[in-house]
Amino acid sequence: MSKSIDTQSMSRQELTLDNIIALKDKLALDPCEVAVIGGSRWGKIMTGILSRSSANITKIHLISSSNYKSTLEWVEGSDLSDKVTVSTDLNSISKNKAIKAAFVINFPAYHYSTVKFLLEADKHVLVEKPFVFEADQARELISLAQSKDLVLAVGLEFMVSGPIHRFKHALKECNDPIDEITIIWHDVFRSERHGVYKLPDMTVNVFVDIFPHIQTILSVLFNEQKTVFKEISIQDGGDSCQVRGTYGQLPFNVNLSRTHLLASRKIEITTEGKEKYLLDITKDPEKIRVKDKELPDDPQWQTTPGSLDLEIDSFFYEIQERNKEIPFAADRTVYMTEAIEDGNGSIIEIQKSLISEFLLDHISAITSTEVLISLREHVLLLLLEESLISNPKDEEKIYYWVEKAYILIHRLANYPLTSQKALVKELDVSQEEIIKLNSVLRQSSFCQSLIIEYGSGVKYWKNTILPLVQSGKVDAVVNNEYQYPHRIGVYLGRFCMFFCSFCGRNHNASYGRGDITTGNVMIKKMLESAPKDDPYRFYISGGMEPLTNDGIGEIVTYGTELGFKMSVYTNGFMLTPNLLEKQKGLWDLDVLRISIYGVDEESTYNVTKNKKAFNKVFNNAKEFLALRDKNGSAVKFGFNFVILPGCAHQVLELAELIARINKESGAKRQIDFLTLREDYSYGDEKFETNEELAGVFEKLKARQKQIDLKDLYIDYGYALYGPSIGKPGAKLYAVTHNNMPPKGYPQISICVDLLGDVYLYREAGFLDRPGADRYIIGRVSEEQSIEDVIREFITNGSEIPSEPEDTNYYDAFDHAVTGLLNQMNNDKDYGVPFDKGPVVDRIYTKGNDTRFTMAHPTLAHPSLLENNNKEKVDL
Ligand code: SF4
Repeated sequence: MSKSIDTQSMSRQELTLDNIIALKDKLALDPCEVAVIGGSRWGKIMTGILSRSSANITKIHLISSSNYKSTLEWVEGSDLSDKVTVSTDLNSISKNKAIKAAFVINFPAYHYSTVKFLLEADKHVLVEKPFVFEADQARELISLAQSKDLVLAVGLEFMVSGPIHRFKHALKECNDPIDEITIIWHDVFRSERHGVYKLPDMTVNVFVDIFPHIQTILSVLFNEQKTVFKEISIQDGGDSCQVRGTYGQLPFNVNLSRTHLLASRKIEITTEGKEKYLLDITKDPEKIRVKDKELPDDPQWQTTPGSLDLEIDSFFYEIQERNKEIPFAADRTVYMTEAIEDGNGSIIEIQKSLISEFLLDHISAITSTEVLISLREHVLLLLLEESLISNPKDEEKIYYWVEKAYILIHRLANYPLTSQKALVKELDVSQEEIIKLNSVLRQSSFCQSLIIEYGSGVKYWKNTILPLVQSGKVDAVVNNEYQYPHRIGVYLGRFCMFFCSFCGRNHNASYGRGDITTGNVMIKKMLESAPKDDPYRFYISGGMEPLTNDGIGEIVTYGTELGFKMSVYTNGFMLTPNLLEKQKGLWDLDVLRISIYGVDEESTYNVTKNKKAFNKVFNNAKEFLALRDKNGSAVKFGFNFVILPGCAHQVLELAELIARINKESGAKRQIDFLTLREDYSYGDEKFETNEELAGVFEKLKARQKQIDLKDLYIDYGYALYGPSIGKPGAKLYAVTHNNMPPKGYPQISICVDLLGDVYLYREAGFLDRPGADRYIIGRVSEEQSIEDVIREFITNGSEIPSEPEDTNYYDAFDHAVTGLLNQMNNDKDYGVPFDKGPVVDRIYTKGNDTRFTMAHPTLAHPSLLENNNKEKVDL
């Protein structure tokens, strides 16, 4: 892509550099006072320039909140002390009518609020680049300035830079179409300039810091054009950056760095005919080469005013004349803010994935410098605000705390249930310090995203912790207050034809036929009287095999008509076309999931002890797919598979099985999902290794891309997420019986069987399972609703002493919930409750946060199914 240089004039009248230089003689403002907001090195330079400006400035109010002492010392040690006052109080500026204009040179993150404050106080404002981070903020401030007839300008000094304008003049010789613009802008990280020790602004990355200069230079040379980025990459965590794109139609390649040993600032333009035009502004005077010929130095370079002087003169001239001539008026730079917002958004995503590479590994003894630099810009200001550091240039202190922040993020991203007490010990900080560090993390959306979305604990966070906390149920349990159960398992099966090796059911027990008649009436009443604010409240499962209940179709339809998104877990043995014909209500389901226990006849028999199991379920699944197409039912249909120790390889065989079912069914719509789960009944030592799982999942992902599995969404269990992305991942969280809450958590989860018996835990809900009746908290009947049972138990029920084997009634969800309840209690007792913790979404917002929802405890997140083949849940 190429284009000849556009030298047409801009839409508004343009001040030439010569005109700008002549402005100082035209300035005739009344004497006025000005304010400089920000006592940094640049603020001091600006103060010095203002003190000798041609504008009639009688006093300069220098506001320095984080740097007050050194700023005062600097003023007192200079010859400016009779003209400059130093204060920390920004409010004093708004009240002082003598102050006509303000120069905003504080941290970029404060620009928006500071400029707004000053405009509202009727001050003309010149704000240092980058103006603001978001184009909408820029538009809002511009509109505010216009409504008050105030001048709002952005400190883009290269708009009035002699060397840039001279290079523009030299380019007039160029008639050949431009092939590429190459810009190198390398700074040294630590240097001494103008007698002041210089470090870059570490609250922003090099792109946000320097790209406004690049855009300014391009706009001087080629007028205002749209910037489109084609490729952005970062090095050194964001202290260096490579940007490729187009400015209008001109291709550019920009290399920015602030960590180079030698400074270099060069703009080279290459034409299609291989002519080269070079501007080198590394040192004064600038060097210009035109087609390999170096032009003589500008004879007036030492007497021409500097760009900052010219910028200030033209800003005051605009205040005086209001003829909208200055090229750096804020309303002429919105396109620059749009580009910064766009490019910075890409860099933030790159930084997240860079950190996530380390986040998913074990903590190393030395944290990567790239990680620390990437994180630095997102926490530095907050560390200052929380007084964990006092100087934004104190590198040692900054990295000390950035590393602590990283370790805290790492721990919570992978082990979300870690207590604050344990974190204090691990981080080697005080309780007061961790409260401050938590606050830093809470205020950074970047850190929040890393904790919740980028660690191996993502499934704990999104599928369990956040939805449960925001439902208010966790608070209710901890405070022993009544709430209707969040999730209810309806165990309506009469018996089961399988004898699975790991199943806790009593193989000799089954419900009577009469229990179905009375049980189904009870279930319908329960559905009818339940609150209707959560469509995922009920799921039908077992207990026993649910399809053995000949009223199941009617119950599904009944629940659906009441507004519930009903789901059924089955072993699939009875899911024949014949049964589907009789139980038409099953087509009203939201989700139907078959638990698969093997990948061929032998492996299925080994688990279920039913010789027909494999073939029956395989054929039923095929027939179901074909019939679903025919009926046009929207039911989502999928499989669940528990990876037993030593059986990871079966996952690939299962994928082939699903592909065969898809193909042989002849259906257009394929199997929608596969939920893969850990076997929580085994200890770590017997579980598959992460390496084994990661290898299998990698092959599975490749297989998933083929046409016969293209619609399959795979939802990985809590501890399978890490291996699913090729990383170690955290172990499955588990508690011991000593940690079991004495009254369970019926506000969160219960199950109800055909007799109306309400069990605290789902794995206890098997008829006549030895010892399980201790966890029955009451019976739903004609006289007693489920609400009555729960209320009575919470108010008057006795605590249930746990016994060593009682965690057998727990599944992975129960372990996680218990961990969450214990964490909440422990953190509160330790003096760092969730509202002082590091995760903003873990603070209960009393129903005001509707982003979080969950399916029933072991089904995939509802939105996962709706966003097929997406890696992450969009909350
Ligand atoms: S796990 Fe399910 S299918 Fe297997 S025996 Fe138990 S209830 Fe039946």
